[in-house]
Amino acid sequence: MAKISKNINYKTIILSITILGLLAGGSFASWQNYNKDKQIKILEKQINDIYAGSQQYSKDHPQFLGETSQTPETMKEPFSINGIIIADKKHPLPKDYNPGENPEAVKQLKKLIEAGQKSGDKYASHLVYDYSGFRSYDYQIGVYNEYIAQSGQQFADDFSARPGYSEHQTGLAFDLRVTGSILYRGDDKTYDYYNDWVAQNAHNFGFIVRYRDQWQNSTGYKGEPWHLRYLGQTLATDVFKSDKPLEDYLAISGGNYTKTF
Ligand SMILES: [Zn+2]
Repeated sequence: MAKISKNINYKTIILSITILGLLAGGSFASWQNYNKDKQIKILEKQINDIYAGSQQYSKDHPQFLGETSQTPETMKEPFSINGIIIADKKHPLPKDYNPGENPEAVKQLKKLIEAGQKSGDKYASHLVYDYSGFRSYDYQIGVYNEYIAQSGQQFADDFSARPGYSEHQTGLAFDLRVTGSILYRGDDKTYDYYNDWVAQNAHNFGFIVRYRDQWQNSTGYKGEPWHLRYLGQTLATDVFKSDKPLEDYLAISGGNYTKTF
C-alpha cells in the first residue's frame, strides 16, 4: 500500500512537473511570438521611416534624382527608370530620338476609345479615332511656336512642351479628341478627375491621365484631361491607385524647366 501510494505520489510529481513545464513552455512560446511581432513592428517602422526619409530626401535633393542639366542637343539616351522613359521639363529627350508611335500603345488606345464610345458616358461616348500621338522633335518646333504666336510664351509653356521635352516624342503619349476634333473635355470647365470616365478607366488599358491642375508643381503642366501616357496595365494601375503624378510615384525631380529663357 505504501509502495503504491509512493508510486502515485512519484507519478503525480512527474505529471505536475510535466504540466508546469508545458505551461511554462507555452508561455515561453507566446512570449517568443510576442517578441517576434514586436520585432516585425519595429522593422516595419524602420522601413517606413526609411521610405519617408527617402521621399523627403528626394524633395530636398532633386539633383540626385535624375534631373539632368542636359539639353535635347546633348542627351544621348532618353532618361529612364526601370525601363520607364521619362520626358518632362527636367528630362529632355535626345533631339534625334525618333521611335514613332508605339504599336502596343496604339492597340490599347483603340480599345480604350472603343470602350469609351460604348460606355454611354456623357463625354467619353463622343471619343473619336483622330487622336494626336507621336510628334518628332522637328514637328514639336512648329507646335510650340504656334502656341507662342497665338497666346504667348507663358501659355505655351503651361500647355505645350518645348521641342525635345514633349512626352509625345516618346511615342507613348496620346491626346484624345471628341467629335469635331475637339480635345477631350477641353471645353468642359467642370472636369472632375474622380468622376471622369477616361480618368477612372484608362489604367485598365495601360494608360494614366498624366496632367492634373493640382499636380503642376510635379508635372510642370496645367491639367490636360485629354493627355494619356502609356505605361502598360500593371504599372498604370499601380500609378493610378497611388493617386500621384508620375514624377512623385517614381520619386524623381519634376516641375518647371531648369533654364527659363
Ligand atoms: Zn498631349
